[in-house]
Amino acid sequence: MSNDGKQHTNGNGHRHLHEIAGRIATAEFETPDPKAEIEEAVRLILLNVGEDPQREGLLRTPHRVAKMYDELLEGYHQDVATLINNAMFEVEYGAGEMIVVANIDYTSMCEHHMLPFTGKAHVAYIPREKVVGLSKIPRIVDMFARRLQMQERLTNEIADALQEHLDPLGVIVVVEGQHSCAALRGVKKHGLDMITTAKRGQFRTDPALVQEFYRLAGI
Ligand SMILES: [Zn+2]
Repeated sequence: MSNDGKQHTNGNGHRHLHEIAGRIATAEFETPDPKAEIEEAVRLILLNVGEDPQREGLLRTPHRVAKMYDELLEGYHQDVATLINNAMFEVEYGAGEMIVVANIDYTSMCEHHMLPFTGKAHVAYIPREKVVGLSKIPRIVDMFARRLQMQERLTNEIADALQEHLDPLGVIVVVEGQHSCAALRGVKKHGLDMITTAKRGQFRTDPALVQEFYRLAGI
C-alpha cells in the first residue's frame, strides 16, 4: 500500500516536472505581445476610474494609447552606436572651435507622472578628431527623450553619449522644458520653464567657452 502510494507520488512528481518543462519551452517560443498587455492595462485604468471601456468613444482607446506609447517610448529600442553608425567623419576644423546645434525640439515623458514635457535642446561640442553628421544630434536627443525621463537625466545622457562616442575636447548641453505635470497639477504655473545644463571637458573649466556657446546658440 505504502509502496503503491510512493510510486504514485513519484509518477505525479515526474508528470509535474514535465508539465513545467513544457510550459517553459512553450513560453520561449511564444512571442510576447507588449502592445496587447498595454491595451489590457489601459482597459483596467478605464474601469477603475469609473468608465465603461465598452462605450463607443472608448472602444479603441486602449489600442490608441498602446500605439502612442510605442511611438513616444521608442527610445528603449534604440542605441547611440547604431544611430550614429557611418555618420562620423574625421575633419580638419579650427583647433578648439565649437560646433553648435541649437533649437532642437523634443518631446519626452516625465517618469513620475507619465505626462509629456516638451521644449528645446541646445548642444555644442569641440571636436578632437571626429565630427558627427549634423542630423544625428537631434536623433540622439530624440532617442533619450523618447523614454520615461527626468529632464536632469536627459541632459546628462545626451552629454555623456556625445562624450563617449565622439571623444571631443568638450561638450555642453542645455535643455529647456515645460512640464505638463506641473501645469496640470498643484503647481499650476503655466509656461513655467525648467532649464538644465550639462558640461563636459573644456566647457567645465573655461567660462569664456560657455559664454560663446550661449551667444552662438542665441539663448
Ligand atoms: Zn512629472
